[in-house]
Amino acid sequence: MKLKIRTGFGYDVHQLQEGLDFWLGGIKIPHTHGALGHSDADVLTHVICDALLGAANMRDIGFHFSDRDPKYKGIDSKILLKEVVHLLSREGYEIGNIDSTICLQEPKVNPHIPAMKACLAEVMGIPEEDISIKATTTEHLGFVGKKEGVAAFATVLIVKQ
Ligand SMILES: [Zn+2]
Repeated sequence: MKLKIRTGFGYDVHQLQEGLDFWLGGIKIPHTHGALGHSDADVLTHVICDALLGAANMRDIGFHFSDRDPKYKGIDSKILLKEVVHLLSREGYEIGNIDSTICLQEPKVNPHIPAMKACLAEVMGIPEEDISIKATTTEHLGFVGKKEGVAAFATVLIVKQ
């Protein structure tokens, strides 16, 4: 039997606004500002969804969960991620590994990475060692550096037996 391996990529941005909850990687980060969006605006969870869907050539997160649908207003993005993993498994795909980068000027993300990994691993039903989460600032440059927004990137590998 031929082993089918595919890669996928995801990119997403959300505005930051004062007084909002800041959901990132499935957990709530203590901060003065939070990300703005139709859902809980969890940029890391969104890029993982998009990378997984892209790897399977199944369009993107907005195609499956429209930001015009009131059903998804304020929704916990972990629910969307779980559904994405389900969509892929229906097509016979398993997750190989995930690598991701969060671009945020502040607060420091690194102390929260172990909790994010544990959370996302449980949601996707994969070992923590298969999820890499990295964080970087943009050295005060651009919308991330000016603390106007948060961005993230992810690449994934999926496997079909
Ligand atoms: Zn998003």
